[in-house]
Amino acid sequence: MAEAEKVEVVIVGAGLAGLACAYHLAAAGLEVLVIERGDFPGSKNVTGGRLYLHPLRSFFPHLWEEAPLERHVTKERLTAMGKGSSVTVELSSERFKEKPYHSHTILRAKFDPWLAERAAQKGAIIVPKSRVDDLLWQEGRVIGIVASEAEIHADVVVAADGAFSFMVEKAGLGKRRKPQDYAVGAKEVIELTSGAIEERFGLSHGEGAAQLFFGSLTEGMFGGGFLYTNIDTISLGVVVGINALMEKEPGFELHRLLDSFKERPEVKPLIEGGHPVEYSAHIVPEGGLESMPQVYGHGILVVGDAAGLALNTGLIVRGMDFALASGALAAQTIMEAKKRNDFSPASLSRYEELLKESFVLKGLETFREVPRFLQNPRLFNLYPQALSESLERLMWIGEEPKEKISTTLWREARRAFRFSAVRDLLRVWRI
Ligand SMILES: Cc1cc2nc3c(=O)[nH]c(=O)nc-3n(C[C@H](O)[C@H](O)[C@H](O)COP(=O)(O)OP(=O)(O)OC[C@H]3O[C@@H](n4cnc5c(N)ncnc54)[C@H](O)[C@@H]3O)c2cc1C
Repeated sequence: MAEAEKVEVVIVGAGLAGLACAYHLAAAGLEVLVIERGDFPGSKNVTGGRLYLHPLRSFFPHLWEEAPLERHVTKERLTAMGKGSSVTVELSSERFKEKPYHSHTILRAKFDPWLAERAAQKGAIIVPKSRVDDLLWQEGRVIGIVASEAEIHADVVVAADGAFSFMVEKAGLGKRRKPQDYAVGAKEVIELTSGAIEERFGLSHGEGAAQLFFGSLTEGMFGGGFLYTNIDTISLGVVVGINALMEKEPGFELHRLLDSFKERPEVKPLIEGGHPVEYSAHIVPEGGLESMPQVYGHGILVVGDAAGLALNTGLIVRGMDFALASGALAAQTIMEAKKRNDFSPASLSRYEELLKESFVLKGLETFREVPRFLQNPRLFNLYPQALSESLERLMWIGEEPKEKISTTLWREARRAFRFSAVRDLLRVWRI
C-alpha cells in the first residue's frame, strides 16, 4: 500500500455493513477503499445463518436473483429443552413458500466474497490481509486511518469493523462496554447430502428449516442454540451471554456446550453421519438500543455490528439485514454530504435520521425492552424445564389410574410457577 494516499471514503471492515456501503458508494462513482484484516471478505465473519430479505429489497432491488443464497426457509421450529425432555413447536406455512421468499439461509464464506465482487465490479477497491490500527486526526476531526503502517487520508471513514469495534472506541463514540451487552457464539458447519437434509427435516427440494433452542442446553445461562439447513450443510451453534459466562466456573469452555448440544437426542439424529467442515466463534452485540454508540462523528460513521445494530427476541435473530441496510444508509449520507462538501457532525447526523426512519432503528425501538427481559435466568432453566416436564406428565400412562388433566396442570403450575412467574408474564406484555 502506498504511503499517504487520499481517497474519498475509507471503510474499515469488509463484512456485510462495509461491503453494502462500498457497493452503493462505488455505484455512485465515489472512490472507495475497503480495508479488511481477514485473508478475504467472509473469512472472519460468522452468522447463525438466516437473512430476512423483504426489508432489504428496496435497498438492493437487483441483487438477490444471483446471490449465493442457500435454502429458503419454509419451516420454523422452536424447542424448549428440559434436562431429559423437550417440547418443539413447528410452524410450516404456505406463505413461506411464496416467491419472493421472505428468508434464506446463507453461508458467509460464500456470501461475503460474492458481495465483495459485486462492490469491486462497481469500482470499490478491497484490500484484504490488512488491519486498520488507528484513526488519523486533525483539529478534532477524523481525516483518515493508519493501516499496515501506511497513512490513508479520506473525507469520511466508515467504521464497519463489527462487534467490539476498536474504531468506535478510538473515535470516542462508544458508551462504556458492559458484559451484558454482548454474547458469544460458537458454530459448526456440518456437511450432509442435500437429500439427507430434506428427508430429516421433511422438506421439499430447495426448502429449508430454521430451529432455535432454549433451556437446559445453556446450563441455566442466558443464550440458546440454533440450527439452519443450507444446501448440503447444516449450521449448528450455541450462543451464551458474556455476563453469564463470566459467572460460570473459571475455565468453562463454550465448545463443551456445543459438544453436549450435538449429543442431545433432539439434535444428534439430525446431524448423524455429517462431517464438520468449519468451526468458528464470534461476539454478538445483544444490548439493543440502550447500548448503541453515537453513530456519527466529525468525518466518521458507524455501521452494522460496530453500531450495535443486532436484535435477538428469542424467536427471531437479526443483524445481517440491519448491517446491509445501515451500510446503504451510510452511503446515502456520504453522497449527500459530498454534494455539500461538509463532513461535520451536523452534516453526518443525517445518517442517524435515516436510520430512525428505517426498519433498523424502528425495529430496535419496538424491542427496546427485550435485552432486559432476556436477562432473566428463569427463561433458561425453570420455564423450559417446567413446560417439558408438565407435558411429559400429561402424556405419561403408568400403572396407577390417570388423574384429571386439570389436577396435573394445577399441581405443575403450583410447583413451577410462583409469584415471579406472574411478574415475568406481565413483562411479556412490554416486549
Ligand atoms: C453466532 C451468531 C449467530 C448469528 N445469527 C444471525 C442470524 O441468523 N441472522 C442474522 O441476521 N444475524 C445473525 N447474527 C448477527 C450477524 O451475523 C451480524 O449482525 C452481522 O454479521 C454484522 O455484520 P457486520 O458487517 O456489521 O460485521 P462483521 O460481519 O463482523 O464484519 C466486520 C469486519 O471487519 C473486519 N475488521 C475488524 N476489525 C478490523 C480492523 N481493525 N481492520 C480491518 N478489518 C477489520 C472483520 O475482519 C470483519 O470482516 C449472528 C451472529 C453470530 C455471531
